[in-house]
Amino acid sequence: MLNIYPTKKMKEITKETWDHAEFTKTDIEELMQRFHYSGETMAIIRDEELLPAGLLSRLHGAYPRHSGLREEAAFLFNDKKYYSGLEGFREIVGILSGHGIDIGHLEERELFISVYRFMATKHVLNTIKWDDFGNDSVFQLVFPQPGMIRADITEAWLNATSREERETIVRNYIRETNPHDGKQQLNKPTFINEDGEIEVVEGSQHKYPQCKLIFDEQTQNCFAFCNYCFRHAQVRGDDDMFIQHDIHQVHEYLREHQEVTDVLITGGDAGFLKAARFEEYITPIIEDPALRHIKTIRLGTRVLTYNPGLIITPAYNGMLKLFKRLYDHGIQLAYMSHFSTPREVLNISTIAAIRRLKAHGVTVKSQSPVMNHISLFQKENGAVDVDRSAQNWIDLANVFAMLGVGFHSMYLARPTGEFHYFNQPVAEINKVFNKIYRELPSLNRPSRYITQTSSAGKISLLGTVDLPGQKLFALKFNEARNMEWMDKVYLVHYDEKENTIANLRPYGADKHFYEDELAEIEHKLHSSIETGRKKNIP
Ligand code: SF4
Repeated sequence: MLNIYPTKKMKEITKETWDHAEFTKTDIEELMQRFHYSGETMAIIRDEELLPAGLLSRLHGAYPRHSGLREEAAFLFNDKKYYSGLEGFREIVGILSGHGIDIGHLEERELFISVYRFMATKHVLNTIKWDDFGNDSVFQLVFPQPGMIRADITEAWLNATSREERETIVRNYIRETNPHDGKQQLNKPTFINEDGEIEVVEGSQHKYPQCKLIFDEQTQNCFAFCNYCFRHAQVRGDDDMFIQHDIHQVHEYLREHQEVTDVLITGGDAGFLKAARFEEYITPIIEDPALRHIKTIRLGTRVLTYNPGLIITPAYNGMLKLFKRLYDHGIQLAYMSHFSTPREVLNISTIAAIRRLKAHGVTVKSQSPVMNHISLFQKENGAVDVDRSAQNWIDLANVFAMLGVGFHSMYLARPTGEFHYFNQPVAEINKVFNKIYRELPSLNRPSRYITQTSSAGKISLLGTVDLPGQKLFALKFNEARNMEWMDKVYLVHYDEKENTIANLRPYGADKHFYEDELAEIEHKLHSSIETGRKKNIP
C-alpha cells in the first residue's frame, strides 16, 4: 500500500514526560516565587487567570526540550533589572565566574561592545541555559561572539599598544558599519504643510502605501541589544538616525495620505512608549473623521522576549486601557514581537504577558529574521543543518498556535552590521523554508513566503524552477516601491552561494524588470527631500 503520509514517531514525548508536565496550582505558585514576582503581579496573574495549569501542562508536555517551565534551580541574575555597556558586561562575567562559568574570548567580545553596544535584562539572562550556553540561541542573540568582527580589525585591536590606538580603530570601524545604505533616507516622507510649504517628516518612513513607520522620540532605546541589529544607527545614536518629535506633524501627514491604513511605531523598541504619549497618537485617530482610514496601529517591540514582566505589572495598566479603547473602536492594535526560538516563549512571564495583552483586545504577532547560530544551525562540517533549523521554526509555530500568536513572517536580514556571521546562502535557506512550510498545517504557517528587503521592496523567494539544463529561482515582490511590481512572478538564476536575493542574476535579461523605474523613483524621492530641507532652512 502506498503510504504518502508516514506516521510520525513522537520519540521524545513519552507518558512519563506528560505526567511530569502536569502542573498544579501549587506548582504555579512556586513558579511565581522563583520569578520573584511582586505581590501585585501575583494578584494580576491570579485574578486575570494568566497562567492556567492546563496550558502550562500542554506547552511543557509538547516541548520539554525548549521549555523552562520545569526548571527549578535558583536564577543567577537577581539584583539589577538590566546590565549595560562594558561595565554591565563585566559584571555579568563576574557573576558567571562566581558560579564556575567562563564564557571566554573576553577581549574579542569587548571589541564588539565598543563598536556596537551591550545591554541585557535580568529576564533574558535568566532565560539562557548556562550549563550549555554555547548552543543556546538566546546567548547567541545577546552576547557578542568571537568571529563577529572582521579578522583584520580584531587583530589590529588586540595588538594595539595604547588605549588611544584602540579608540581610533573602533572609531574608524564604526564609520564602516553605518547600516543606512543611503536608500533608507529616501523613505522619509514629505508633505505640504498648513503654510503651503514642503515639510520633511524626519522621524518617519513611508515606503509602501499602506504602512507608515514612526521612530518616536521615546522609543530610541532597547530593552536588550540584539547582536544582529540592523537598526544600530538608531540604538547607538548615530547622527543620521530617525527621530519623530512632533506628533501633530504625523497626523497632518496622515490626513493627506488616505492610502495609509497602518501606522507602525518602532525604534529602538516601541515598548518604551509611555501611555500619555501613546494617547496623543491615538486620540485623533479614534476621534477625527479625517483619520478614519487608519485601521491598525502596530507596535514593533521585543519586550516579550527581553522584559515581559513589565506587562504583568500595574505600571502597564494605562497602556492596556488604551489598547482596549482602540479595540472597542474597531482599530486593530498589533503587537509585533520578534521571537526566533521556542525557548524565548516558554517561560511564565512571557506566557502571562501574551495572555494579558490578548485579554485587552491586542493582536499579538511575530516576525523574525532567520539567523545563523540563533535560528539557523550548522552541522559540524559547516553545512546548514536543514532538519534542526526547520524543527526550531516548526516548534515555534506550533507554540504560537497554542498561545494564539499570529506567525507573521520569517525573513532574511538586510546586509548590515556583521552580516557575514549571521547569513547563509539563499539556496540553503530555501531548503529550510520548504521543510517548514510542508510540515506545518496551513493555519500555523508564516503568513508569507520568506522575504528580504532591498531598496526596491520586500522580495519573496517562491522556490526553484527546473528547466532543461538549468535551474532558476522564482521571485515575487511582497511589498514594492511601485505596488504594480507585486503582480509579477519573475525568474533569476539559481546560485548556491549568493546570500542577498536582490543580487541574484536576472534570467533572460541584463537587468531586473524593475531597475530603470526604481532609479527614476529614487531620483524623484531624493529631489523631493532635498527641496523640503532647503525650504526649511531659515
Ligand atoms: S530590539 Fe530591534 S532595534 Fe533593538 S537591538 Fe534588537 S533588532 Fe535592534
